[in-house]
Amino acid sequence: MNFKNIDTLCVQAGYEPKNGESRVMPIIQSTTFKYGTSEYMGKLFDLEESGYFYSRLQNPTCDMVAAKLAALEGGAAGTLTASGQTASFLSILNICGAGDHVVSSATIYGGTSNLFTVTMPKMGIDFTLVDPDLPEEELQKAFRPNTKAVFAETISNPSLVVLDIEKFARLAHRNGVPLIIDNTFATPINCRPIEWGADIVVHSTTKYLEGHACTIGGAIIDSGNFDWEANAEKFPGLTTPDESYHGIIYTERFGRTAYTNKLVAQMIRDLGPVQSPMNAFLLNHGMESLHLRMPRHCENALKVAEYLKAQPETAWVDYPELPGSKYYELAKKYLPKGSCGVVTFGIKGGRDVSIKFMDSLKLAAIVTHVADARTCVLHPASHTHRQLSDEQLVAAGVRPDLIRFSCGLEAAEDIISDLEQAFEVIRKEA
Ligand SMILES: *Cc1c(COP(=O)(O)O)cnc(C)c1O
Repeated sequence: MNFKNIDTLCVQAGYEPKNGESRVMPIIQSTTFKYGTSEYMGKLFDLEESGYFYSRLQNPTCDMVAAKLAALEGGAAGTLTASGQTASFLSILNICGAGDHVVSSATIYGGTSNLFTVTMPKMGIDFTLVDPDLPEEELQKAFRPNTKAVFAETISNPSLVVLDIEKFARLAHRNGVPLIIDNTFATPINCRPIEWGADIVVHSTTKYLEGHACTIGGAIIDSGNFDWEANAEKFPGLTTPDESYHGIIYTERFGRTAYTNKLVAQMIRDLGPVQSPMNAFLLNHGMESLHLRMPRHCENALKVAEYLKAQPETAWVDYPELPGSKYYELAKKYLPKGSCGVVTFGIKGGRDVSIKFMDSLKLAAIVTHVADARTCVLHPASHTHRQLSDEQLVAAGVRPDLIRFSCGLEAAEDIISDLEQAFEVIRKEA
């Protein structure tokens, strides 16, 4: 079976039962796997044979789900991780060590921003955060001889900056390093960054991919396209012997999937942040309807954005597909099927009125979550981005009055009547 249509891949990729096997992808809830001889087991440890031996390294359920996501993204291989944070962290740690440097867009998720500006610098990996809208020549100035990767989000959470992926890919490749894209908000239904030149794609599968707010998870998809050997001096971990595996050289042994094999054999083995088979099963369950859910999230968000724009109390509203949006043209190019279900806006009167407005919502719940089936709302400056200074907030594109409104799968008219009654509350108080 080799289907190409992404809708079919959502439903079927990753698992094909043989005669008499379960129709539904099975949950292999086992830490270990049995083999007949000690010699065979030894070969598994030397990576000479492929097979499962311990679920900290690999698990069949997790691998099937990762294979589905790799198919959706058009990648060569995929790996699930315990969370989206782990995916971002390991995507970089797999190719960087103390003394290395990464260029990252400044408009990224708050957790990623903490990881890049607080935790990873303590490990000796430095980041330069750049305004992604700057022209190429300006962005080039951020690169150093020890730069090993470029990182950015397709659609940034929560500032909804749409990335010019081709510009970032050109920059990364001109400097001999891979482009890593966090594609959480767009999902492969709305954008496949590998087709625009990205080398590695990471996800918080916690969001739209699983879609129902049941499980935390992440994934790293390897395009298989980056030529590590052509830039061998930058990536010794991939192109010189790994003494922890009897001196194998990942690029020689694994070719296009060298990055993924190193990730699993070394990073995941040593650090251990795997996704559980049960969570992977739930993630797969969610992905089976991803192609149906994403258009509805987007349709609801556009209606909500248009409604908000028409209210006199709205100070501003951002949604990439709203005519007049700063990112309208980039969205048309990279996100022709839709962007995401998240709309951001501010209410006139500033922070206090915005908070009053949020507290008055009934259908939309105040939760630390985004991008799931139920409409939810959050004030990043008080919640997810609380750790950032005002200066960092501005650099991350998060205005202090920004309300992040994540449109779920309910009827648009019900979401809008909820907003309407909250506007009435603040109108009465004005
Ligand atoms: C939520 C999120 C993350 C972090 O993922 P977790 O699964 O919460 O660890 C990373 N990037 C983006 C864009 C996110 O929205």
